[in-house]
Amino acid sequence: MEIKEILDLIIESISTPISYIFNPKKRLYILYLCSALILAFYVYKRDRIRSTLIRYLFPKKVWLSQSAFVDYAMIFLNSFVKLLLVVPYLIYGLYIAFYTNEYLFDYFGTPAFTLTAMQTVVGYTIVFTLVSDFMSYLVHYLMHKIPFLWEFHKTHHSATTLNPVTQYRIHPVELLINNARSILVFGVLTGLFDYLSNHQVHKLVFLGVNVLSFGFLLFGANLRHSHVKLRYWSFLEYIFISPVQHQIHHSNNPKFFNKNMGSMFALWDWLFGTLALSKTAKNIEFGLGEEDEQYSSFWKNIYMPFYNIFMSVKMFLKRIFNL
Ligand SMILES: [Zn+2]
Ligand SMILES: [Zn+2]
Repeated sequence: MEIKEILDLIIESISTPISYIFNPKKRLYILYLCSALILAFYVYKRDRIRSTLIRYLFPKKVWLSQSAFVDYAMIFLNSFVKLLLVVPYLIYGLYIAFYTNEYLFDYFGTPAFTLTAMQTVVGYTIVFTLVSDFMSYLVHYLMHKIPFLWEFHKTHHSATTLNPVTQYRIHPVELLINNARSILVFGVLTGLFDYLSNHQVHKLVFLGVNVLSFGFLLFGANLRHSHVKLRYWSFLEYIFISPVQHQIHHSNNPKFFNKNMGSMFALWDWLFGTLALSKTAKNIEFGLGEEDEQYSSFWKNIYMPFYNIFMSVKMFLKRIFNL
């Protein structure tokens, strides 16, 4: 790679996160930030908060904390990693779709029935939304349960204050895993629906998915990573994860470890016994507890997972070989 290419990549890595503000597919799109402000205003009124509205919405200890600066640095690093290691491979989603389709034809022949255009749009929207959300839950669950994956996922949980940018505070290794998951889900389901609909999957099919995700992003997705206590009615928290439920997921109280790992739906947490309703938690503090200090800076968050894994392997080998 030439110097000019590297420089272009760096400039693009900086400008891309800034452009999220104008991109309706991104959580930081201006409209979603505005809707989050409106919902936060509702909570401000509901809870009769005594401080001024501006102080409630933008407390310095949240937006200018050391933890927040790690988030801000991480969004640019991850933008760089994404441009370098994800964007060139997005095409693989289409390859997977093509080969899934081929495989189904070879194995099952022409399908016994063909979906109409409408059935394709509705079916794809529902199946894609449910399957991709379940896969997010599953990968998130594994990140919490498998020790070496947890080391990387700790970067997201080491945030001691939450703001909408914390969404992008993930270790680059987790970023790669999550993107591989998305490419795989997209490829397999697009291939499946292309097969079932006799090649009727085209741009319009993705509209339904986009409409649902628009609704999700509009209704307070940005408040999940925030100090604003927006909860849903209890019955609804069995179906959808409310902002407070995700805040509980970030709690440093062991009682709430490995709870609420769902993304859009709480259904998976309910089904697999990892659900915590917002009414069960009061005064949530965020972070890793005793380990916070080890993850206080940007660089610590990058290298600590490798260091901890290296130390664990070393200890393991020592035990095995009695060194
Ligand atoms: Zn987590
Ligand atoms: Zn989070």
